[in-house]
Amino acid sequence: MGVITSCYKCESCGDPFRLRYNLGNKYPQTAIFICSDCGDTLKFGFDANQESVSSKLVGIDFDRDLRVVNLHPELMIDQSGQGDALYFPSLDFLRKQSQRGVLGLDIFGSAQASCIDYQNAWDAIQTDFRYLKEGR
Ligand SMILES: [Zn+2]
Repeated sequence: MGVITSCYKCESCGDPFRLRYNLGNKYPQTAIFICSDCGDTLKFGFDANQESVSSKLVGIDFDRDLRVVNLHPELMIDQSGQGDALYFPSLDFLRKQSQRGVLGLDIFGSAQASCIDYQNAWDAIQTDFRYLKEGR
């Protein structure tokens, strides 16, 4: 549960902001968001080699006073936490799950394990599946 913090501006309109990208569990991972000034579609994340990727963003010097944009590739950002420099979507998600009691955390654990199992199984067969599909 890491947070990548850096400053960017929208390539289209120049609107500057401080991006707080909360790392997900799997690579590649990206988060798509809308420029609050011009409405253009922006993207930030990491490719399969864990190298950063972005679209329509221009890196600028770090400025702590810029408007904060929180992103997470797997979790919805609560509206109340969108501009909060101390907001952590993963902690917020776990807090909400714990409010559902022990069962909520059990369901979360099972769902997360299921996602990992699915990805591992897909990783193991995807090359063979592609060859089969392509008739090789
Ligand atoms: Zn813009």
